[in-house]
Amino acid sequence: MLTCWLISEDGNHEPLPLPHYQRVTLGRGPETTIKDKKCSRHQVELKADCNKGYVKVKQLGSNPTFVDSVEVGKGMEVKMEPGQQLHIVNQLYPYTVHFMEDLSGEPPPAKRPREPPSMEAADSKGASNVKVAKQANHTPSSGRESATSNNEKPGIWSNGLKATMQDPKMQVYKDDKVVVIKDKYPKARYHWLVLPWESIPNMKALRGEEHCDLLRHMQQVGQRMVAQCKDAPALRFRSGYHAIPSMSHIHLHVISQDFDSPALKNKKHWNSFTTDYFIDSQDVIQMLEKTGKVTVKEGTSELLKLPLRCHVCHKELATIPSLKEHLKTHISV
Ligand code: AMP
Ligand code: ZN
Repeated sequence: MLTCWLISEDGNHEPLPLPHYQRVTLGRGPETTIKDKKCSRHQVELKADCNKGYVKVKQLGSNPTFVDSVEVGKGMEVKMEPGQQLHIVNQLYPYTVHFMEDLSGEPPPAKRPREPPSMEAADSKGASNVKVAKQANHTPSSGRESATSNNEKPGIWSNGLKATMQDPKMQVYKDDKVVVIKDKYPKARYHWLVLPWESIPNMKALRGEEHCDLLRHMQQVGQRMVAQCKDAPALRFRSGYHAIPSMSHIHLHVISQDFDSPALKNKKHWNSFTTDYFIDSQDVIQMLEKTGKVTVKEGTSELLKLPLRCHVCHKELATIPSLKEHLKTHISV
């Protein structure tokens, strides 16, 4: 018998099984990672027919669900086949269905988040030139759990950084506490990620004085990366953390403020680096020093939906292409 899987085209989570002829209700919640209030907690009901190779999609929520361009309508059902796209609410949260002969019960691989496959091999023109003398052979500090000893699932996209940081070809700097890699989808001419060897999933897991020292070191290493960058005198840099990261294993972004990169593609990318969604390393360290932990303000995820605004002169731009055109006026080299 075939098995049916629901795949998030945004790569927001692992494929979800749709067991034959069982009604599966989905909507806002941890299973889909959808936080949008426009999406009901019970937005759709899906029923796969693995013999016939389709899924019946019933809209339960008030806001529209789409199968391709067809609005399902509240209380109504539409058939969906492989190759068609389901948008759970409005034109958002795209999903496809896959029927697979699968004896192992393993789900198909999840889609990569945010970045289309065509970008995966891309490298920024500047970032690829970075050369930093490699430090002495690294062995993660003894007594501490290293990133790979964590109980991680290598197939999950959000664990991608853990794999990349271990790959010597991707490391541009390392010492006994941290490693620096180039961001695989750089959002500017120079975009590095500084990661500790210690397995710390995110900022929420940071505690007290011990981690303060580590974060200070991460910031210093970031500054060293900038110092060795030949274009640094002509560029501005920021180093900080995304309030709500998409990738597991804490990572400090060190990014030039030109945002001159084809991998910067959408409003989410832009706002994640130019609003308070991006928290300066200094501020994170200060909060940790003062309160012993790092908390993120409520409503932070809403910042990603703000209109596009130039980070230099604050002019509002309607589209990403017009924003990119505008940014050229601020770049001197
Ligand atoms: P965030 O979790 O939102 O703070 O950002 C994660 C960053 O990791 C993004 O800037 C991605 O472009 C980058 N990224 C995603 N996968 C990889 C990877 N395998 N290696 C290096 N960078 C990655
Ligand atoms: Zn401007």
